[in-house]
Amino acid sequence: MKKKNNNYPSKKNNAPARPQRVSNFEPRQRKKEDYAKVNGGVFVYSKPVTVAELSKAINVPSPAIIKFLFLNGKAVTINQLLDDETIGTICLEYDYDFKKETVVDETHFEELEIVDDPASLQERPPVVTIMGHVDHGKTTLIDAIRSSRIVDTEAGGISQNIGAYQKEVKGKKITFIDTPGHAAFTAMRARGASVTDIVVLVVAADDGVMPQTIEAIDHARAADVPVIVAINKMDKPGANPRKVVEELMAHNLVAEEYGGDIITVQISAKTGKGIPELLENILLKAEMLELKANPIRYAIGTVLEANLDKGEGPKATLLVQNGTLSNADYVVVGETYGKIRRMTDEHRAVLKSAGPATPVSVIGLSAVPSAGDRFMAFPEERQAREIAEKRQLAKTMQQRSGTAALSLADLNNLVNAGKVKDINIVVKADSDGTAQALKANLEKMSTDTIKVHVLSASAGAISDNDVLLASASGAFIYGFNVRPDARVRQKAEEAHVEIRLHKIIYELLDEMTAAMKGMVVVEKVESVTGQAEIRHIYKISKVGTIGGSYVTSGVLKANSKIRLLRNGVVIYEGTLGSLKRYKDDVKEIKEGYECGLTIDGYNDIKEGDIVEGYELVEKK
Ligand code: GDP
Repeated sequence: MKKKNNNYPSKKNNAPARPQRVSNFEPRQRKKEDYAKVNGGVFVYSKPVTVAELSKAINVPSPAIIKFLFLNGKAVTINQLLDDETIGTICLEYDYDFKKETVVDETHFEELEIVDDPASLQERPPVVTIMGHVDHGKTTLIDAIRSSRIVDTEAGGISQNIGAYQKEVKGKKITFIDTPGHAAFTAMRARGASVTDIVVLVVAADDGVMPQTIEAIDHARAADVPVIVAINKMDKPGANPRKVVEELMAHNLVAEEYGGDIITVQISAKTGKGIPELLENILLKAEMLELKANPIRYAIGTVLEANLDKGEGPKATLLVQNGTLSNADYVVVGETYGKIRRMTDEHRAVLKSAGPATPVSVIGLSAVPSAGDRFMAFPEERQAREIAEKRQLAKTMQQRSGTAALSLADLNNLVNAGKVKDINIVVKADSDGTAQALKANLEKMSTDTIKVHVLSASAGAISDNDVLLASASGAFIYGFNVRPDARVRQKAEEAHVEIRLHKIIYELLDEMTAAMKGMVVVEKVESVTGQAEIRHIYKISKVGTIGGSYVTSGVLKANSKIRLLRNGVVIYEGTLGSLKRYKDDVKEIKEGYECGLTIDGYNDIKEGDIVEGYELVEKK
């Protein structure tokens, strides 16, 4: 059997047994009643204690403690809770050392800030995601790296696609996430899981920086993940790496040769040229990032993908992010738990343990988790079960109350409470010039205490991608002369992302200024009644252009205010002229029905245009 990926030896290999958890992350062994115990002259406590409790713990009569405090100007009673400073003073007086431990509630392990003893930290492999514009060669690069034999000692075996793989370069490992692109990356982040340490941005040398290149840059930046640029397709005659480097500069990625800190590597994913250099540069970047983890603790990490295997049940790829996952552990993921029955790597080799940054395929979970779910390993079934039950309860409660990304109203409240530091916004406008102008103006509003970050500003309809980015970053979306379609609107609603639409720049900026000052925003809310798609055009002299339409959502009402959308961009606003079903004028047409319509004073409609009907409702 191969011993690949055994970063940390398991007990069964006769290797030293895995020590118990260290530092302040070991609440599970502690019993409730011994929160305060004397430990060789050290008073260890985790929550405030009374005089009586302290007296018992350090073996000093209560009256003595009370007298001591009284002489120091502090009158206390025997059942009074003591603050940290007072506890410290008393301990020092009676020759006790003291230590406060933080009790960690592992129920919400996603939110745990793990503090490892620096002595137990070891270097770990970087986790890399490959992003870039479509057809620039992401998949080819992923495959090329996977199959390239950088070192010949690499284990053979038929590889299985588990969503990630590790590559050994010069004795060090790099973990690659298989799913390229920023959608998966940000979907993970939207779920609170940041797995990527380094983004490799693939830009085809014969095509240059394209819209999705820019999106990828925005997403990496919003996640604060450093970028290495792989200038691909260098084997092609039209390759112009210089142009790529210059275009990147316009997006604030300044290459090293221009005095910046962005590593660029020229490669051909097709011929394999430059790939070893790319890998070495990834290692170099990883070294600079000083990526470390503690292989001694029980594993914590993220589900990369999961499915239901007909024969084996729930099967998931887990990325261990900290600690070591052993094949004997119980794993809590989502609201369920299970005992690992088998753990394999991407070569189907069975593993006994997997250390930090290792992706493994496991079976034994009791339900199929979702990609982006966090997991945590436990040594005993009882603990795993209890935590899973508590999480189930917490989830039910949370579903009842609902959570949301930041909305403008929240912002208003937070400003009033003095609680907001960063405001994240996604801007979509009808032209790039407007988007950039809005970005500049919004960011200029930053004050000493509140910083405005425009995560992305671009032209075009509000898309899934924008909602995802906003949801992952707790942002809201400003749409200027653009609209989300019904589907995107619904996604935003589901993700509790607020979309605010404007058509006059100063109104948008005024609204933002007011919110930042904590002033209540009175708004005229638009209520969209429905949308129809224009499917046929009939030109009739005297009447004008009639759009043979199909109502795709809601209702379209006669004389309604409407806007005409082409590819998500508002091209006209006005009112409906006529609304007919067959030859008859009608008051309204419901979803799923066809109609003929005209727009007052506007004839330039085209097939595929969307007519959106709306009403204005005043709301505070
Ligand atoms: P993705 O959409 O970014 O995943 O791009 P693919 O990896 O699917 O590549 C798109 C096309 O570009 C495919 O036809 C690849 O064969 C081709 N391609 C990718 N890398 C290179 C390269 O380095 N040189 C050349 N000549 N073609 C490449």
